[in-house]
Amino acid sequence: MTNMILLGAPGAGKGTQGVNLAKIYGIPQISTGDILRENVRNKTPLGAKAKAFMDRGALVTDEIVVGMVIDRVAQDDCNEGFLLDGFPRNLAQAAALEEMLSKSGRSIDHVIGIEVGKDELIKRLSGRRICKGCQASYHAVFSPPLETGKCDKCGGELYQRDDDKEETIAKRLKVYDEETHPLVEYYTDKGLYRAIDGIGGVDDITGAITGAIDRASDNT
Ligand SMILES: [Zn+2]
Repeated sequence: MTNMILLGAPGAGKGTQGVNLAKIYGIPQISTGDILRENVRNKTPLGAKAKAFMDRGALVTDEIVVGMVIDRVAQDDCNEGFLLDGFPRNLAQAAALEEMLSKSGRSIDHVIGIEVGKDELIKRLSGRRICKGCQASYHAVFSPPLETGKCDKCGGELYQRDDDKEETIAKRLKVYDEETHPLVEYYTDKGLYRAIDGIGGVDDITGAITGAIDRASDNT
């Protein structure tokens, strides 16, 4: 059983690495955005509570989010382990996760921290462009469309999401620094943190992650 957390700032490449790792280890990649939508859609008790917050334009509480994660990892497809992508987001969530997992005799084995410098993060995030027609994603520098501003797949117009504008990015990175980055120290103290250099090819980074997991597993 391999229970993992993927940690990293917005733009560090968590989503992409998560897809690879889920395949390699045969475990589901779990993002809180997905399970939140699923709970609301299926009108579960936690979903109904979450919806009440969302309808007011308020943030869903840590307690509800952790509850949903615990329900999710209790499902059969997590018998061999799970990969949490973008959760926990703060120390309170991390502590609650640990406490609730321990009730079922489970724990986190590895926390993969994909580390990328701030300038590179800003470059990556601010270059993102989305197609208005088919939602295909491009990058002005790293994966540009054949014709500037136009989707290769459907010819639709490309735009920059408000989330990807530079002032919003600076805000998102600041929130990450203040709320989520303290988890690096938290998990380092527990001997679970595996630091990974997030600059380089996707497959090279995946190789660095599996190498770090192998080394850490040999030591236990
Ligand atoms: Zn398109």
